Amino acid sequence: MDFETFFSTELDALRSEGRYRVFADLERQAGRFPRATYHGADTPREVTVWCSNDYLGMGQHPDVLAAMHAAIDECGAGTGGTRNIGGTNHYHILLEQELADLHGKESALLFNSGYMSNWTSLSTLASRIPGCVVLTDALNHASMIEGIRHSRAEKLIFAHNDPDDLRRKLAGLDPARPKLIAFESVYSMDGDIAPIAAFCDIADEFGAMTYIDEVHAVGLYGPRGGGVSEREGLSHRLTLIEGTLAKSFGVMGGYIAGSAALCDYIRSFASGFIFSSSLPPTLAAGALASIRHLKASSSERERQQDRVAALRRRLDAIGIPHLDNPSHIVPVMVGDPVLCKKISDDLLARFDIYVQPINYPTVPRGTERLRITPSPLHSDADIDHLVSALTAIWGQVGLKRAA
Ligand SMILES: *Cc1c(COP(=O)(O)O)cnc(C)c1O
Repeated sequence: MDFETFFSTELDALRSEGRYRVFADLERQAGRFPRATYHGADTPREVTVWCSNDYLGMGQHPDVLAAMHAAIDECGAGTGGTRNIGGTNHYHILLEQELADLHGKESALLFNSGYMSNWTSLSTLASRIPGCVVLTDALNHASMIEGIRHSRAEKLIFAHNDPDDLRRKLAGLDPARPKLIAFESVYSMDGDIAPIAAFCDIADEFGAMTYIDEVHAVGLYGPRGGGVSEREGLSHRLTLIEGTLAKSFGVMGGYIAGSAALCDYIRSFASGFIFSSSLPPTLAAGALASIRHLKASSSERERQQDRVAALRRRLDAIGIPHLDNPSHIVPVMVGDPVLCKKISDDLLARFDIYVQPINYPTVPRGTERLRITPSPLHSDADIDHLVSALTAIWGQVGLKRAA
């Protein structure tokens, strides 16, 4: 086989569909978020980032940076191994205690990313619990889908955020079989939120485990940033809460929180936990500082919600269509992959605004969008500039406005 030709033909197909991924070469500037230097084709220039998942700008918070500087001076760079063989650093222990407390759970377990925490936890549980059947929301994240697939357990996909469909699917199963219900709280592309209480009621009725991904909610919702489950007083009803340290907490890493036995079980049986070298102390120390700050401070959350509401009002006023949802995510709908990429390119080239186009397979075809994530650090002037840029481009590409 001519491998090179094979690779380039496949890539050409992506390009012709308008969904070839181009990474924006950015240099983030500590202390200046949401500004970044864009290293494009011409000379580097400053742009405003409108699509970061560092939702609160914690990636540059002084407490976080100070903790990371201190940790590198105290502990050096890497940990030197897996958690089992010399790689457990005291910061991992402190961070796991902090995470358990954040979610009101007995225990927590760190992973090197949120992706790994979902993949490894779901594949371990679903493959090792004898006869386990997984009920998985139709819009679950790739890391959950892949983990479930790897487990080879039987899986039933229920309609997105639909308790009735979940109940129907459960009712058709042998009552004696162990069941695991996997879903997210805030869905990152539509910004809608799961009916968590209803799912917990159904889980109780059928004796199922509940597994929630709160990646897009931790740090952002609840009085201490414990996610939607904290806000709704439901943390104690969820068997396992999964999150990331890389989005609102601004650093890197993933985790699960649950009972002591559950976390110990995954610690003891999960390949993706056992056989991967542990997070550097700097990252653990930075995440620890970030979580501690957001547990005590709600001003970032409040300001973010204010910015989100302000942008939505302005988009409504000029008739730019965006999905209405109860979260901090503002999806501006384009509905065509080539146009979506073109709008994103124009925003960057002409207005120094960076919003990545979101195309298939991240979202279904025909629902291509610009996913805008206002942060506490976007000013009124930033919003003005974004709205006037979108107004100009919308007319030029011939997209319709809402009434
Ligand atoms: C980003 C994401 C993850 C993965 O988290 P990382 O820490 O970035 O690996 C998991 N679940 C959802 C819903 C995500 O959007």
